[in-house]
Amino acid sequence: MPLDHGPFLDGRNKHLKSFFLFEVPEIKMKVPKKVKRYCPYCRKHTEHKVSDVSSGHKRSALKRGSIERARKRGRGRGYGNLGKWGSKPAITKWKQKTKTTKKTNLLYTCQECKKSHGQKKGKRTGKLQIVEKGEK
Ligand SMILES: [Zn+2]
Repeated sequence: MPLDHGPFLDGRNKHLKSFFLFEVPEIKMKVPKKVKRYCPYCRKHTEHKVSDVSSGHKRSALKRGSIERARKRGRGRGYGNLGKWGSKPAITKWKQKTKTTKKTNLLYTCQECKKSHGQKKGKRTGKLQIVEKGEK
């Protein structure tokens, strides 16, 4: 599935894109593959494997909330598909992108007990890269 760049690729929003690129330089964050962390199950610091949850799985074009919202806005009424849910452009037209970054959603898996726990607070970043330890 191609990445959704939203309204940024529309011709009328081209100036917006350059504006954002000028104001906010692309933020990249590198995360080590393995990190020593406190494991609440072992109750001590152990080696943890880091994985990014947000890049793992993707739902269909519309999230459940969006479908409900679209319905309230008068779309998706009646029976059947009506050719509305398969194509994206009709929906993305009134979906304005305001934020250029997302909070990280990291999952830490303890190497000793193999249990995983997520991070408490995500940091805002544009791109997330999981790298081997040592490399920066
Ligand atoms: Zn553990």
